[in-house]
Amino acid sequence: MTLDRETLNTILLYGITASGAVIAAIWLGLILWTWRDMRQRSRDPLAQVAASLMVAVLGLFGVIIYVLLRPQETLTEAYERSLEEEALLQNIETRPICPGCGRAVKDAWQVCPYCHTKLKKPCVHCGELLELPWNLCPYCAGSQVGAGRVPQPQVVTPPAYAAGATAADAVEFVEE
Ligand SMILES: [Zn+2]
Ligand SMILES: [Zn+2]
Repeated sequence: MTLDRETLNTILLYGITASGAVIAAIWLGLILWTWRDMRQRSRDPLAQVAASLMVAVLGLFGVIIYVLLRPQETLTEAYERSLEEEALLQNIETRPICPGCGRAVKDAWQVCPYCHTKLKKPCVHCGELLELPWNLCPYCAGSQVGAGRVPQPQVVTPPAYAAGATAADAVEFVEE
């Protein structure tokens, strides 16, 4: 019961064909994976083709080089990050800031508690807080003109001067 030369050759041929097919399938799979992965990371069709070609030519080494050099973020990740950044920026922009000292203030505050700058004025009719330059209340349509309110941001005198100092002291201080 010995294998003759022809049978051995046939078995060898099958073996080589089978392993060749497996290698080809893996190789094609790697190219396809690279192309799909690159498509998630770049909109540039040239970059997608170039990456796939590199893997096609260099095989497994091409995949290693690709993984090292590919863009870190996928397009979805980059989009989500830009959304987050935009939201953060908007948050900063819309947060009210005291024009006097630059500190963060709240929408419902009439004056800045740090530097005493007047921030808002209450409507003379309904009491809702209005921006200082507004002459018409958007809540009750009541006119603010002639009610004795100054429609300008008003910096209140510093506490050191306001406490007990007379007008004469102030003049003296200015002259010095
Ligand atoms: Zn302030
Ligand atoms: Zn009003």
